[in-house]
Amino acid sequence: MEIPSSLIEITEKVGNDINLVQGPGGNISYKNDGFMYIKASGTKMSDVKKRNIFVKTDHIKIIKGIENEDKDLKKKYWVDNDSMRPSIETSMHALMPHKCVLHVHCVNTLSWVVQENYHHKISFLLKGQNWSSVPYIKPGISLSKEIKKIIDTKNSDIILLSNHGIVVGAETPCEVYAITKGISEKLYQGELNKTKISLTDFDKYLSFKEYKLPKYEYVHKIAFSNKHSIIAANGDLFPDQIVFLKNGIKIVESVSDLKFLKTLRNEEYPVILIPDKGILVPYNFKEVNENTLLGLSMIISRIPDNSLIKYLTKKDRNELLNWDLEKHRQKINN
Ligand SMILES: [Zn+2]
Repeated sequence: MEIPSSLIEITEKVGNDINLVQGPGGNISYKNDGFMYIKASGTKMSDVKKRNIFVKTDHIKIIKGIENEDKDLKKKYWVDNDSMRPSIETSMHALMPHKCVLHVHCVNTLSWVVQENYHHKISFLLKGQNWSSVPYIKPGISLSKEIKKIIDTKNSDIILLSNHGIVVGAETPCEVYAITKGISEKLYQGELNKTKISLTDFDKYLSFKEYKLPKYEYVHKIAFSNKHSIIAANGDLFPDQIVFLKNGIKIVESVSDLKFLKTLRNEEYPVILIPDKGILVPYNFKEVNENTLLGLSMIISRIPDNSLIKYLTKKDRNELLNWDLEKHRQKINN
């Protein structure tokens, strides 16, 4: 089986759509003749025409492995003999019955699935769509089995993953894209207004060489809303935030508040949010951290004022940070 050209085209389109994918997030798969092509862990969908980002796996062996309670994917499950590993979300793709499966951390979807009781709120937006949802479970086999259960009982093609994103299955890459994009557009209800920052506001803060301006101007928006600043500083909303913005976001009211930095090691610096001024990031912030922060601010900017947020727990955080496969993904991105 060769990689269908439609899979390449759609992968690039999704990878370049900032509403759907930020940095290395998101993955797509295609099954045929007992094999499954899936995006490799840590690669970017937008790079699909620059280099090979797909791993060819033995779909039948993966399904057997999952049935035998094999916790993590083994090398014997993939056919390509190189250093790439299949996405850490491979079991989810493998268990879905559809030929093509697309999973993204869509910001419009996330702005809802991080809220308490979001199901009631969005049922009118998604009226007529064949959708279901699952509670938050660490990505991996347990989540995949839960999804499979829902598909088997409700026959849904669209699954919203609480505090995580969306997964959609269909016959072709074009179909899976059209469905995902359609849901994403239906779930867009507006965002914070763009606010222009004043660079001189940062002068004093930037005398601390530990900080710099963020790459994307968009991220400053949340600093101009009290409610949204608190959402950003209060906890973790989704897995990539835990992994790539590990030290959190700290609200800093004045330069003298930066004293706390003295007690921290370089790799422990949080993002700082200065109310009504903007956001600064640690000097050692990398591309993947910038992209995750952009995704986070797009999500938060889309959360309505009157909503109640459901944060991930300490247990969820520890589970992710101590997961071997996740460590591999972090290593590739650093
Ligand atoms: Zn995911």
